[in-house]
Parts: sequence; C-alpha cells; structure tokens
Amino acid sequence: MKKRKQKQYDDDNIIVLEDVVKVYSENTPALDGVSLTIKRGEFVFIVGDSGSGKSTLIKLLLRELVPTEGRIIVNGQNVAKLRRRKIPKFRRNIGVVFQDFRLLNNRNVYENVAFAQRIVQVPNKEIKRNVPHVLSIVGLAGKYKARTTQLSGGEQQRVALARALVNNPPIILADEPTGNLDPNNSWEIMKLFEEINEQGTTVVVVTHNREIVNAMRKRVIAMKKGVIVSDEEKGGYVDED
Ligand code: ADP
Repeated sequence: MKKRKQKQYDDDNIIVLEDVVKVYSENTPALDGVSLTIKRGEFVFIVGDSGSGKSTLIKLLLRELVPTEGRIIVNGQNVAKLRRRKIPKFRRNIGVVFQDFRLLNNRNVYENVAFAQRIVQVPNKEIKRNVPHVLSIVGLAGKYKARTTQLSGGEQQRVALARALVNNPPIILADEPTGNLDPNNSWEIMKLFEEINEQGTTVVVVTHNREIVNAMRKRVIAMKKGVIVSDEEKGGYVDED
C-alpha cells in the first residue's frame, strides 16, 4: 500500500501544489488557494510584489512551514506528512540559494562547499572529488583556498551555488539570487542556473529582476495577494500595479 501511494506521486511532476492555503494566525491568508505543477527539468521564475506570498511558498516547499489546507508534493513526497526526523533527508532534494549568500565567513571556499557534504556524511574521498568539480562548474576552481570575505558578491554567490549543487539535488530553489549583485554578475549567475537546468535539474527562481525575466523567456508564474495571477510559458515580467 505504501509503495503504491509513493508511486502515484512520483511521476513527471517534481513539485505539485493542490489548493494550498496558508494562514498565519488570524490574518488574511498569505496563500489563498494556490495550485501549480512543475515538471522535472523545468526552469520557472516566480515574480510578484512584496507580500504576494513568494517566501511563504518557498518555506512550504522546504517544509519550514506546513500548509493550512491543501496538498504539497515535492519529489514524490507529501511534505505535510513527513515525520520530523525525515525532514533533514527530505531537504536534500532542494539546493537553496539566497539573496544574502549565507556563507560561513570564517572558512575558505573549499570548506564552504565541503561542509554541505560533511553534514550528509559523504566520505572524504568523494568530497575531494566532488568539491573541485562543482567549483569548476561555477568558475571558481582557482579560488578554492580563498576566504569568502576576500571574494566579490558575484563570486560569493557562485560559492553558494556550488554548495547548493554539490549534493546533486533534483531541485535548485533560489530566492532573489541576484538581489545583491550588479547587472553583469546577475547575468552570469542566471546563465549558470540555465546551464544547470540544461543538465536536467529543475530550477525555481524567485526574482524581481525584470530585465532577466524578460530576456530569458522561461516559464513565469506571477503572484499577487496570495494567488497566482498568471502562469505563462516563455513569459515576461508581469507588472505589479
Ligand atoms: P513575499 O515573499 O511575496 O514578499 P510573504 O510570503 O513574505 O510574501 O508574505 C505574504 C503575506 O503573509 C504578507 O501579507 C505577510 O505580511 C504575511 N506573513 C509572512 N510571514 C508571516 C508571519 N511569519 N506571520 C504573519 N504573517 C506573515
């Protein structure tokens, strides 16, 4: 029975939300009936005004929150039904990149990436192979010894991306990844997301970067006041009025 149920979820859709409502205390819902499916291997932008529910959506996907109503399936797992002790393992499905990088600033580049492998108990021998590999993907192979404080913002975000990638998650989730970067570095980071996506990883990027969204012609989901107001393949930035 258990097996059948798992199989039923585990199809082409890596992320599924069905009529999801999230209410914090007595307020109006932060999410008010959100349904969406993201297929394995898709690249999706999520745009929307501040307060439209984007962070709430991210927290639900990471199982930092549980929905008040509705169902959320991530990589075949019903997140609301996960037992507490299974949450760390569940989170390995999702490599996360934040606006403010969130690096360990008292460690070097290598250690920042290796740390993500150590906490999931990857043997040292594999770490020594995997870390240089992901650092070369993000163009930082030569900087593995540098302290993160010696790096530019763009380089720090590449380290964060390498860290998100190193455990080979099926999903990369980025919350305003270019929010602290200049236009050149923003483009370079987005190109890396695109390359990673081309290798098969599902990429979900929350952003306010209108120029990038308009140029990249990916699927764009726009949110407003807790609902999805548009969802377009090869879309553009949706104005917030
Ligand atoms: P966004 O990320 O698009 O800015 P959020 O998901 O942060 O939107 O917020 C959606 C709504 O939920 C907003 O009205 C916000 O004030 C509210 N909200 C977010 N977090 C909390 C919280 N921890 N407690 C109460 N209300 C919250």
